[in-house]
Amino acid sequence: MSRKLFADRIVLEGLVMAPSCRQCRSAGCADRCTLSARLSGRCSRCVERNNKCSFLVSVADFASLDRQRSKLRLEIRKAKEVQAKALSEQLRNELLLESIDKREKALFDRGLEAVEAVEQQEAEMSDLFGPSVLHDAATVSLDVDWFGLDFPAGTVEALQNNS
Ligand SMILES: [Zn+2]
Ligand SMILES: [Zn+2]
Repeated sequence: MSRKLFADRIVLEGLVMAPSCRQCRSAGCADRCTLSARLSGRCSRCVERNNKCSFLVSVADFASLDRQRSKLRLEIRKAKEVQAKALSEQLRNELLLESIDKREKALFDRGLEAVEAVEQQEAEMSDLFGPSVLHDAATVSLDVDWFGLDFPAGTVEALQNNS
């Protein structure tokens, strides 16, 4: 397709630009500056004359926009990663805190069980021997077999004589 035909298509499809491009303005052809963004970044007259139209966004500008966009996307992704990391650390710490609470409660419960077990034992001993015996039993060794002790011969008689 020749430049002329392509320019004609732009004129057919496009809109007359106001203000016109710099090239058309300086050539005094502002009323013929037609642009169809779908077909070209250059106006019809610049296409026909193969001018560098001021409407045309340069490739470098596009590349620059792309670079800026990529950089921003990367920074957004990094920020999201930092957030995700911070969030996961927060969750981890919350779980740790929870487990410490549970362990403390378990220790406390076990402590209570131990205390309850001792109290239970004391109550049983109190039922068997009475409270005073419990006190004595606590101060002397329970391994001593009081009923199996061998008193020296004559001890009982001596005690009876003294009374
Ligand atoms: Zn133009
Ligand atoms: Zn132009």
